[in-house]
Amino acid sequence: TCGICVEKCPFDAIEIINLPQELDDDPAHRYGENAFSLYGLPIPEEGKVTGILGPNGIGKTTAVRILAGEMVPNQGNHESPPDWDDVLERYRGTELQDYIAAVRDGDVKVSRKPQYVDEIPGQFDGNTRELLEHTDERGELDYLIDRMEIGPVMDQDIDSISGGELQRVAIAACLAREADFYFLDEITPYLDIGQRMTVARLIRELADEENKSMLVVEHDLAILDLLADSLHIAYGSPGAYGVVTPPKSVRNGINEYLAGYLDNENMRIRPSPIEFEEHAPRPVNRAQTLAEYPDVTKSYGEGEFSLDVEGGTIRKNEVLGIVGPNGIGKSTFAKMLAGSLEPDEGDLDVALDISYKPQYIDIDQPMRVDAFLSSITDQFGSSYWDTEIAQPLQLERIMEQNLTDLSGGERQRVAIAACLSDSADLYLLDEPSAHLDVEQRVQAASAIRRYAEQQSATVMVIDHDIYMMDLLADRLMVFDGEPAEHGRAGQPQAMRSGMNEFLSNLDITFRRDERVGRPRINKPESQLDREQKREGEYYYSL
Ligand code: ADP
Ligand code: ADP
Repeated sequence: TCGICVEKCPFDAIEIINLPQELDDDPAHRYGENAFSLYGLPIPEEGKVTGILGPNGIGKTTAVRILAGEMVPNQGNHESPPDWDDVLERYRGTELQDYIAAVRDGDVKVSRKPQYVDEIPGQFDGNTRELLEHTDERGELDYLIDRMEIGPVMDQDIDSISGGELQRVAIAACLAREADFYFLDEITPYLDIGQRMTVARLIRELADEENKSMLVVEHDLAILDLLADSLHIAYGSPGAYGVVTPPKSVRNGINEYLAGYLDNENMRIRPSPIEFEEHAPRPVNRAQTLAEYPDVTKSYGEGEFSLDVEGGTIRKNEVLGIVGPNGIGKSTFAKMLAGSLEPDEGDLDVALDISYKPQYIDIDQPMRVDAFLSSITDQFGSSYWDTEIAQPLQLERIMEQNLTDLSGGERQRVAIAACLSDSADLYLLDEPSAHLDVEQRVQAASAIRRYAEQQSATVMVIDHDIYMMDLLADRLMVFDGEPAEHGRAGQPQAMRSGMNEFLSNLDITFRRDERVGRPRINKPESQLDREQKREGEYYYSL
């Protein structure tokens, strides 16, 4: 394998692979004979935001437990493990020396945001206020609550708030504490782009103004790019070994990661690059119509949320991206298409059979993955299903596990597979990127696209990861308005005009990286930002 996957290559093409040199040395930690080994450690830096980019299961949590002083890294010697003094010897003369010395002396306090916020309600009984009140160690809690707009849910029970609210509460709880080193394991799942940018700013403030060390694992590359000062790439074979590189510049780190080749390490981590279209794809008009719908309005009652949708056409065979902030009526529209919600005005006489993957996945059946998926489709286990669904979604390894034992990323992949395996007219996926690493996002995007092409299926995808949307969508439907109050949606439109409308609502422009053409968020008010706004080109270069 190339070092990314332990299974069969999902890209069907592996020739290379030089094993990393580090593997000749002792690891920083090995859990046991033939167990997972971690090579290299990230280096927290005062006043800096350090990013980690790499797949799930590659040892990021292990590294942080070491840096938090929760476990002594055994240097590969699990039989007679060293103590902190021995470890300090090993790191003497390296950039980690001072940090390890502080850990040994018990001088490092760490505050952490866990990866899977969905697990918090199972661990905490009470409302948001009660969860947050013990965290206010810096006297900044009210500010964080205000900036992250948590106010409205302060008196709600933790088990009744949405995933996006839970994510913001968990981030506030982490940032409110007094610590030397803050570790945030994914900040974007369930948040819309505006919320992602706010969280990124708050993390930056803590580094810039309080001189704290911030370490962030993130798979939304546009946000990681914006947020971090430097970047460690983590690569290897998930579950077997992981290598954390020395820090790189964020730009080079992300470029190398996408290119699939780490320059300094002389290491190929993927057979082919991940590429983005610099110029807007040409609109295709050949497709047949799946459904035509008139102008539609819906209100949940006097003074409640209301939505206006401009009539439009959904095409057969397309992947229609749906973008817009949280709470703007995207799910409301989907429910009307599915016929489970009646519009007030406009006859949505489409009665489409919809297969739906919700944003928050509640799978609590005590059932094995294989039993669950075979109960959905007769195709289960066929070579077509294996090639098109199971392999790109990396399901082989988890087939025999119970649904209840899956991690968030595993559950997401099973839910995408379940949604696509059902027979329907329209497949609607709400935030398929949540908890998937970059590799998994790319593979899920290509599986969804291939599925739409081969099955002549129509797919609608709601997502907030711009890179994912770029890889996925043929056209866009843009929602805008005042969240929780009023939403508006225009007709589905071509990628260029859709991106322009969506990003102008957000007041964000993207430039293209000179080397690899990937989209990067412009600094507000920079020359490019102003130029592009003037020209009305927010995303694609001309
Ligand atoms: P990440 O945070 O990158 O997802 P982790 O550090 O959590 O990765 O885990 C890396 C690997 O180490 C996984 O394969 C995991 O199963 C294994 N692992 C984690 N903790 C232990 C442990 N206490 N004993 C043995 N293996 C472990
Ligand atoms: P999105 O999918 O864009 O996040 P939704 O369509 O789920 O938005 O919700 C839009 C707004 O409508 C939100 O403020 C939500 O709280 C509100 N809402 C959703 N369902 C109902 C309902 N059954 N009754 C009243 N308000 C609702």
